[in-house]
Amino acid sequence: MKTEEKIICNCCKKVIQYEDYHSRTEYLHVEKEWGYFSNKDGEKQEFDLCESCYDTLVRKFRIPVDSQEITELL
Ligand SMILES: [Zn+2]
Repeated sequence: MKTEEKIICNCCKKVIQYEDYHSRTEYLHVEKEWGYFSNKDGEKQEFDLCESCYDTLVRKFRIPVDSQEITELL
């Protein structure tokens, strides 16, 4: 969740990042505009998850996430 000055994890309410700090905490941002074939037609939803809530979430997946080593970091 993004407020004026910070990004908060929707799942655990932890502050992920303060805007005025130049911290580079990684987090997951999801934005979805639901379309005609959903039950949420025309609704836009957004949330943010901190890394530990992300890990908890993907651990529940029956098929694990695709994971690759990125060799060339910019
Ligand atoms: Zn969290």
